Amino acid sequence: MNTVVNPNDISGVVEADRKHVWHHLSQHKQYETIDPRVFVEGRGMKLWDAKGQEFLDAVSGGVWTVNVGYGRETIANAIRDQLIKLNYWAGAGGNVPAALFAEKLLTKMPGMSRVYYSNSGSEANEKVYKMVRQIAHRHHGGKKWKILYRDRDYHGTTIGTLATSGQDQRAAQYGPYPDGFVRVPHCLEYRKQWDVENYGERAADAIEEVILREGADTIGAIVLEPVTAGGGVIVPPKGYWERVQEICKKYEILLHIDEVVCGVGRTGKWFGYQNYGIEPDFVTMAKGLASGYAAISCTVTTERVFDLFKDAPDDTMSYFRDISTFGGCTAGPAAALENMRIIEDEGLLENTVKMGERLMANLAALKEKHAVIGDIRGAGLFCGAELVADRATKEPADEKKVQAVVGDCLAQGVIIGATNRSLPGLNNTLCLSPALIATAADIDAITNAIDKALTKVFG
Ligand code: PLP
Repeated sequence: MNTVVNPNDISGVVEADRKHVWHHLSQHKQYETIDPRVFVEGRGMKLWDAKGQEFLDAVSGGVWTVNVGYGRETIANAIRDQLIKLNYWAGAGGNVPAALFAEKLLTKMPGMSRVYYSNSGSEANEKVYKMVRQIAHRHHGGKKWKILYRDRDYHGTTIGTLATSGQDQRAAQYGPYPDGFVRVPHCLEYRKQWDVENYGERAADAIEEVILREGADTIGAIVLEPVTAGGGVIVPPKGYWERVQEICKKYEILLHIDEVVCGVGRTGKWFGYQNYGIEPDFVTMAKGLASGYAAISCTVTTERVFDLFKDAPDDTMSYFRDISTFGGCTAGPAAALENMRIIEDEGLLENTVKMGERLMANLAALKEKHAVIGDIRGAGLFCGAELVADRATKEPADEKKVQAVVGDCLAQGVIIGATNRSLPGLNNTLCLSPALIATAADIDAITNAIDKALTKVFG
């Protein structure tokens, strides 16, 4: 390999990294003071760092991505074979894996019929925002151009998607944002905003209140995570989604479900929205789509929406005037196709349901033991434990202590996550999202590590 630094010389790699790489989400003055952990290998649920230390990964690559686990040779081979045959084509005529994967994906999404390829979750969501705006221009005389988004949800890192960030710390410092994105309240019952019995319906009614305030004829769409991820693993309360769906139908508002985290098995169904009987107009997905083996995202929609973009074939403006250069890479759909085969053939949806139940049961036992756990929430292999200083007042636990729990688990060789630097005053939820291949022994090892860490940090 023609590199200046020998890739097997880890200290040289770290040196090059320190000098040249600008890391995601990192304060570099602090970064300079640490001895960075360089991961060099992964197999299944396990990772190894350059010093040879082994870790059990309970967060699927840090951000809910490696759904089928590390070291999948069949995915690597599918990508390799495809790249040798044809690595790229984005022009007219398409390419083989894009067509095959779209067909396969849609078999898991009754009611949906078109797939638009790009590379990241943010991009997939921006495509929807553009589609909604274009529909407003062409079919609603410029009305219905606003998009609703929910407090505590997250939809991406671009300026457009940050305009729909319900996590204020992420969006701070990058404004001003474009007009037309309007926030609605979150639906977390544990942190009640209304003292009512039927909390799910009440939280959905709050969306209707915003619609009426803004004017229903100004609202084109609403974007929602089926289960909020980085905002603290918020599982919607009973009755919420039914009412949301009703409201969308009543005011002709397109329903955009952001499945970037929940999609492709994470909650035990192919898609999170399928747990709630939702009929979306748009579904976006990215992370687990190819489990991080290749960059790919999809914006999926219905034939009804698709038809709105071909209404006037002779008009040069009557089509979706958008391109994603690397949406033409064939590695993404080739990897996604094999990823989906693995989930099917290995029964990983069933495993996710079973292991998710075990994880929730273990967390429930920890809640009995540790008063610092105020609430546990989960859907499939996607769980959270909210830590509080006081169960009665629900005052959030000290963020530094929450991070200390994460740090102690890491020292024990188990990688867990926590909401971090995103919600002012509410970065207090431990987040767990092991790969869908997790075994009972893996799940128990994860919760045993948390048990020890909670005892150490909180007594
Ligand atoms: N949507 C959700 C729900 C996410 O959690 C994320 C990223 O964490 C995104 C969208 C953005 O995805 P990406 O980082 O691939 O742009």
